[in-house]
Amino acid sequence: ASGYSLMRDPRYNKGLAFTDKERDAHYLTGLLPPVVLTQDVQERKLMHNLRQYTVPLQRYMALMDLQERNERLFYKLLIDNVEELLPVVYTPTVGEACQKYGSIFRKPQGLYISLKEKGKILEVLKNWPQRGIQVIVVTDGERILGLGDLGCQCLPITIDVGTNNQKLLDDEFYIGLKQRRATGQEYAEFLHEFMCAVKQNYGEKVLVQFEDFANHNAFDLLSKYSTSHLVFNDDIQGTASVVLAGLIAAQKVLGKSLSDHTFLFLGAGEAGTGIAELIALKISKETGAPIDETRKKIWLVDSKGLIVSSRKESLQHFKQPWAHEHEPVKDLIGAVNAIKPTVLIGTSGVGQTFTKEVVEAMATNNEKPLILALSNPTSQAECTAEQAYTWTNGRAIFGSGSPFDPVEYDGKTYLPGQANNCYIFPGLGLGLIMSGAIRVRDDMLLAASEALAAQVTEENFANGLIYPPFANIREISANIAASVAATTYDLGLASNLPRAKDLVKFAESCMYSPVYRNYLIRLHSKEELKFETA
Ligand code: NAP
Ligand code: MN
Repeated sequence: ASGYSLMRDPRYNKGLAFTDKERDAHYLTGLLPPVVLTQDVQERKLMHNLRQYTVPLQRYMALMDLQERNERLFYKLLIDNVEELLPVVYTPTVGEACQKYGSIFRKPQGLYISLKEKGKILEVLKNWPQRGIQVIVVTDGERILGLGDLGCQCLPITIDVGTNNQKLLDDEFYIGLKQRRATGQEYAEFLHEFMCAVKQNYGEKVLVQFEDFANHNAFDLLSKYSTSHLVFNDDIQGTASVVLAGLIAAQKVLGKSLSDHTFLFLGAGEAGTGIAELIALKISKETGAPIDETRKKIWLVDSKGLIVSSRKESLQHFKQPWAHEHEPVKDLIGAVNAIKPTVLIGTSGVGQTFTKEVVEAMATNNEKPLILALSNPTSQAECTAEQAYTWTNGRAIFGSGSPFDPVEYDGKTYLPGQANNCYIFPGLGLGLIMSGAIRVRDDMLLAASEALAAQVTEENFANGLIYPPFANIREISANIAASVAATTYDLGLASNLPRAKDLVKFAESCMYSPVYRNYLIRLHSKEELKFETA
């Protein structure tokens, strides 16, 4: 490759960090101003520039520009400043970016597979330039939030089967298919073609992460493909694992065990029933009680009220295990008063539903109520951190899906933790890939929960946190990956043999490094070799 194309390719570009010797060797002299900067100085400059923007969406767009220009610098920035930048590339700002995607769209990212490609999906996959794909994050965009790019070995794919959003259908800047969503057999056949093509093109061990599918497809896709593919649904399983981790950690503050609790959910969809099932499984493993029994301590409210046995006939299948014996209750406050939960979890996608009355009832019934407002983005949070602390006189243990700033209450500072599946999917994915897992099992999710809970320190607890600080996500992910991999080996589902002696070290060695490469000592490492042939 010529120096000019080195500069133009975001995977290789170093901008002003090309050294004089590199500029000499690759005919770059004169194509760049004379100064040579280190990656650290570039990083400081970019963070300075980013902070000038006051509108979050501008920061988001500036970051996307950087990713298109200089990939390694983009990831270095993200890694070193993850607590500051996560709210920009992830919830809440990504929500706004998704809503305005058509008008801010500049350059395609990832693959777009639309109904127009029916019968040709394998050919479309082959158009993607990189071969060694290990993880695919796929969405059909029907319940979007939290679509994240996990780096160069991760391929984001949008399956476009149309949209039922009239605003988008009427929008002249919309970039998708302008038709109503395909459903039923047409949808199933298209997804099936996709799943088969993925396996044919990338092999048995490519991980397919389903992201933000609507629940009328999500559960079916997961159960249909979990026996033939390496698949994982982030909204059902990732959310379950992260919430269970927070609950496990919280028991150290409460001096209780999970089986001592009564759980109430607002929202009985992917997140709600996914979390509920993993909690029931965990308690069943801890106590030896059958899961039918442990489910009885868990109650869910949907848009029609408390899920109870008299509603069973008309319930979607994923709600049926939660239809316990109880008289009908029409709303959340009624359910809180009737069930007297010790843990209240919001997974409804509707903001401000944990009203003062609801939160105060939790505080009346519990010395330390556990309250998780998981819905994203911030506008949809069931309550704010400030509300949770003030309405419980500072007694709540609180976490939320989108980040909240620290809260000052009664002379004390409370740090609300972010209960978000972004703690889980990087480590889980790495654990599956590094062990060469062939299937995902619930035991792996439980292992991820335990590993995450174990990362919470006494100091974190003292600040009111039930999750470790996200700044340590790489260390956290290495530990999660090691535990997931260990479980995969123990279950006999690992194909990467022999098993590494130190799985944490192995996980660290598998991680992406954003540090610039030296273009003078080429052909010495595998990575450089790839560059030569790219
Ligand atoms: P979903 O499958 O569509 O489920 C939504 C559930 O909420 C349904 O059971 C629905 O009831 C219920 N609901 C809607 N409006 C309600 C209301 N006004 N009162 C009571 N219940 C109501 O969605 P999901 O995938 O579970 O996601 C839900 C939310 O969780 C989203 O905001 C998402 O961002 C968030 N989430 C957060 C994380 C995280 O890591 N923090 C992860 C995944 C999802 P019906 O069944 O009766 O329609
Ligand atoms: Mn999601």
